[in-house]
Amino acid sequence: MSFLDFIEFNFISIIDIVLVAILMYQLYKLVRGTVAINIFIGLTSIYLLWKLVDALHMELLSEILGQFIGVGVIILVIVFQQELRKFLIMIGRAKLIKNKGFFKFNIGEQDNKLNIGIICKACQDLSNSKTGALLVITHTDDLAFFSESGVQIGSDITIPLLKSIFFKNSPLHDGAVIIRDNKIVAARCVLPVTNNTNFPTHLGMRHRAAAGISEDTDAVVIIVSEQNGEISFAKEGKLQNHCSGEKLEELLRFEANKLNA
Ligand code: ATP
Ligand code: MG
Repeated sequence: MSFLDFIEFNFISIIDIVLVAILMYQLYKLVRGTVAINIFIGLTSIYLLWKLVDALHMELLSEILGQFIGVGVIILVIVFQQELRKFLIMIGRAKLIKNKGFFKFNIGEQDNKLNIGIICKACQDLSNSKTGALLVITHTDDLAFFSESGVQIGSDITIPLLKSIFFKNSPLHDGAVIIRDNKIVAARCVLPVTNNTNFPTHLGMRHRAAAGISEDTDAVVIIVSEQNGEISFAKEGKLQNHCSGEKLEELLRFEANKLNA
């Protein structure tokens, strides 16, 4: 009998440990860079302390910490509301991608191919006139929740339409335009803003909203700054600034190829 026998290490334990490690890493990825990371570290420390105190049979302290951990689940749900939402969206999305063959979304059909040329030209015109704009281009997540927050349009993408939506005195210029299946679904949509504490401070709410929606979903976002006409591109919560017309076209082409794959 070897001295390690008492650990009872088997194949299931390995799977168990690997799954916990993946779960912890996913949780860490969700809270990384947000204020929630401190709470995450705090709660993990309390849990580890509780386990230690319990192993040392310090009954009173173990009881107190145990009670705290007991209500901890409720605290977790309240504090990590946003992160849980993202986590559930992530799981839902994984299912959707798996079922892509069934849903299809008609993305490959000629009519629904993203009209990159028009979008790029419109963005360059908006940039030249320093007109602020925010365009969300959806992928598999349909973003219905966010498009319903705005004014429904349901029209083909045209340069004059995009320009008149974002024209400074237009009643539709505030908020974001959501594009899906090569159609302008809605305008004046309100997007979630990122909680990333490392977000560049010189960028305002439009950029924060672009980062926010692109980290919550698989949509990509084009931002035209009203301050300096600069075009930026957001994907997976990360922003690429100083995009030239060619660069924007290249980035969109890459996304469109993914859509049609
Ligand atoms: P700019 O460089 O154009 O000034 P910015 O990042 O500094 O962009 P702000 O000046 O803070 O952004 O906001 C400008 C506009 O961004 C608002 O008038 C509004 O239209 C839009 N905006 C702000 N927050 C949101 C949001 N949560 N969802 C959608 N649009 C938003
Ligand atoms: Mg601003």
